[in-house]
Amino acid sequence: MTCRYWSPRVDALSPYVPGEQPQQGERLIKLNTNENPYPPSPEVARMLAAYDVENLRLYPDPDARALRKSIADYYDVGVENIFVGNGSDEVLAHSFMAFFKQKEPILFPDVTYSFYTVYCALYDIHYKALAVHDDFTIGLEAYSQSNGGIIIPNPNAPTGIGLSLNQVEQLLKKNRDSVVIIDEAYVDFGGVSVIPLIKKYDNLLVIQTFSKSRNLAGMRVGFSVGNQQLIDGLERVKNSFNSYPLDTLAQAVAMSAIKDDVYFKKVCAMIIASRDLLAKRLESFGFEVLPSESNFLFVTHPEHKAESLYAGLKSKGMLVRHFAKSRINAYLRITVGKDEENAALCDALELILK
Ligand SMILES: *Cc1c(COP(=O)(O)O)cnc(C)c1O
Repeated sequence: MTCRYWSPRVDALSPYVPGEQPQQGERLIKLNTNENPYPPSPEVARMLAAYDVENLRLYPDPDARALRKSIADYYDVGVENIFVGNGSDEVLAHSFMAFFKQKEPILFPDVTYSFYTVYCALYDIHYKALAVHDDFTIGLEAYSQSNGGIIIPNPNAPTGIGLSLNQVEQLLKKNRDSVVIIDEAYVDFGGVSVIPLIKKYDNLLVIQTFSKSRNLAGMRVGFSVGNQQLIDGLERVKNSFNSYPLDTLAQAVAMSAIKDDVYFKKVCAMIIASRDLLAKRLESFGFEVLPSESNFLFVTHPEHKAESLYAGLKSKGMLVRHFAKSRINAYLRITVGKDEENAALCDALELILK
């Protein structure tokens, strides 16, 4: 597709394609975009029920101070160490612009979140995609080369494989001259956050989201944690783009969610337990299941094409994710749902495999 009015840059883009979002009312089992199967905290429902719409007349706080303070207190850092955005995708986009537009190429794994190459094209950033090992673990030795920045999701997507705090710290020790971004979208499902390391490494930026572990994908709230100078760099980009990326409701909802730590921990523990159960059942059908520290499983079957499994599930009203990309086209990424959804998926797969 093209159009003569488009700029050459826009003509050359290959935008990110998110997993399908069915229309409301379609009864599907939706395990394709790593949303949380449980509703947001009851604190959120209570706050919204009592919400005064008069608040929506005014612009939101452009600095989201109250929300940033709640996040800062939760992670034991200062409010000056927190940046918030309209989903962590926006925080990522601003970070690419703020830190990665350098002479040297940036580095990230070849099997990773596919939005990274999209931002590179949008902002004209050079990159080198470094091959992960055959078992999909990340070989950090390869990152000891000159670079304009490094970005790694921990745990990685779509593999679910995590790095230890010590591994990330070794990477930081060897890389003091460019920004290292750790994208912790899934860290609450069994990984280890490196947020404490921001006090030691002024070039570390950690990005998290309310979309997965805090059940708020529809609200679009993401944040980053880092040295004040990095946060100031992000503010410069944000204030050159949109002064009010987070609306008044999103700020209030996210604050209610982060207050309810009991619910947050309970839901994460339930998803971890369901994930391990689902992994065992899939293995019993002959699937190879990568070790996951996230809320999804990355699986392949030696005797069945991932594409036809995807299509078979879809015809039964079940959505999972398949990426038609080299190295991973034999795999399916399955979001961990509620136990009954996971069981329905397994029953359907059992029939398809026969
Ligand atoms: C889901 C995801 C994001 C984006 O999350 P939003 O906050 O919903 O924009 C970022 N990084 C990775 C690796 C993700 O999987």
